[in-house]
Amino acid sequence: METMAERLRQVQERIRTAALGAHRDPSEVRLVAVCKTYPAETVAEAVACGQTCFGENKVQEAAAKIPAVQSAVRLEWHLVGHLQSNKAQRSAELFDWVHSVDSLKVLSRLSEGAARAGKVLPVLLQVDLAGEATKAGLEAEELEEILASAGQFPHAEIRGFMLLPPFREDPEEVRPYFRQLRGLRDRMAARFPGLRLDQLSMGMSHDFEVAIQEGATMVRVGTAIFGSRPVPASG
Ligand SMILES: *Cc1c(COP(=O)(O)O)cnc(C)c1O
Repeated sequence: METMAERLRQVQERIRTAALGAHRDPSEVRLVAVCKTYPAETVAEAVACGQTCFGENKVQEAAAKIPAVQSAVRLEWHLVGHLQSNKAQRSAELFDWVHSVDSLKVLSRLSEGAARAGKVLPVLLQVDLAGEATKAGLEAEELEEILASAGQFPHAEIRGFMLLPPFREDPEEVRPYFRQLRGLRDRMAARFPGLRLDQLSMGMSHDFEVAIQEGATMVRVGTAIFGSRPVPASG
């Protein structure tokens, strides 16, 4: 059995190799350790190995876990799973980043919640690319609408896009989706020069190297760090 420290080191090394191979600076890629279904003690173990950035996919689970994790350093918490608008205000308090904004309503609620919490919350828009099998996320037209009205929500700052592509055994088959997301980001950054669309959240345990080659700035890695989850987590 490998230890947490070994698994984390392997993932960091794979990130480094993929970034350098793509002529990128490895420090441009943030590792979000997705600890959903794992208890606070397991997260604390990862913290002891130097990991400070974590991802959750459910608001309720995160609300219980975040205060329970013992850490001497400040941790960064990312919401990566689907968010309902009635949980947006709570999410704005709990999280440092939200990856899964998929409606104007959710964006608006997050901005209200962040204002109340006295902060500016960086968020990503979850994108549904044409041809995807999964139907979560925004389609092109709605995406542009939201970007055009970003100024109305000053406490939720749109920083880029997130992709949850259909699962493929062979990561090479996901590459076209990653490339499409980056192309979309480049086009939207040109169309909305007032926004800072510098983040691309894409790539999971089995395909993050390909995602990094295609420009990912955040990879969301669960099983490669924590092992396979005891119960299948939805979302
Ligand atoms: C669980 C989850 C991940 C991590 O998946 P692994 O395959 O375990 O690396 C990434 N993104 C989202 C949205 C998730 O729910």
